[in-house]
Amino acid sequence: MNIADMFKEDRTVLSYEVFPPKGDKPIESIYDTLDELGKLRPDFISVTYGAAGNVANTDTIDIAGYIQKKYSIQSIAHLTCVHASFENIDRILGDLQSRGVDNILALRGDIVKGMEPKKDFLHASDLAKYIMDKGGFHVSGACYPEVHQDAKNAIEDIKNLKIKVDAGVNHLISQLFFDNTVFYHFVEKARIAGINVPIEAGIMPVTNRKQIERMVTMCGASLPTKFVKVMQRFDGNPEAMRDAGIAYAIDQIIDLVANGVDGIHIYTMNNPYVARRISEGVESIVRGRA
Ligand code: FAD
Repeated sequence: MNIADMFKEDRTVLSYEVFPPKGDKPIESIYDTLDELGKLRPDFISVTYGAAGNVANTDTIDIAGYIQKKYSIQSIAHLTCVHASFENIDRILGDLQSRGVDNILALRGDIVKGMEPKKDFLHASDLAKYIMDKGGFHVSGACYPEVHQDAKNAIEDIKNLKIKVDAGVNHLISQLFFDNTVFYHFVEKARIAGINVPIEAGIMPVTNRKQIERMVTMCGASLPTKFVKVMQRFDGNPEAMRDAGIAYAIDQIIDLVANGVDGIHIYTMNNPYVARRISEGVESIVRGRA
């Protein structure tokens, strides 16, 4: 089933995100994690792509192909374009096709310090249009409930998101957030702007304090008082912190599903234990709407 059709069913789509092994670790080092995630039968698994768009590294493509072949679970390969040329992208599209991967999360990517962007693709919408013109792929995109850091303001960001959807993106995955109200306001604005594709909520189960600090710096997610209190209370007790992070994520998901969210995308951080605890906790909730 293709990604768009998943959202037509009478249930909430549940998906995971993984990243390729870091540093010199071989690709095989992620296989145990994938085995565990595969058992949980998510609707799809997306695989991130190196920040600098390292075109020599084909791990994303290999892992996305492996997920589909080994577990018969749909995968989405992330693909960034700001440091890529048309030739780079053509080669990657060919590699994806040869592995039977036809779902792409089209991204601009962050501009790497000291690296001049190539001029072929300025925005994710340019990549989405390029892929759609080639044909044969389903294209997803990213969105930002708390506004993308480079955007002038929320209105410009939504207008730019509409351009991306008009370019062919037919499914969006949101940046992580900890305050559901922020997400509801964002979805409302997107719908008013005529963005009618499914919008999945990105949920990051926070399991340690360092991780939160990194995330907040990286993506500027605001932290509700309830969340801050939990983190302060359990700092120094890793097990309690992990359990509290899992419980917080489950609580967010229940509220999102009750409010009719299209899908939940869990940033697993390659941690199958946490993914399992959350998936089991929300199994009956996401699988059937009342
Ligand atoms: P765009 O949609 O191009 O938007 C970037 C900025 O440009 C925004 O401020 C937007 O308002 C503005 N803009 C967009 N279009 C126009 C236009 N036509 N005219 C003027 N301004 C415009 N990064 C990675 O390196 N690898 C990954 O695998 C990865 N996965 C991600 C997955 C998700 C779900 C999310 C939310 C982010 C991910 N990122 C990843 C991070 C992402 O690459 C960065 O946030 C990047 O800075 C923006 O990418 P984008 O595709 O959202 O860009």
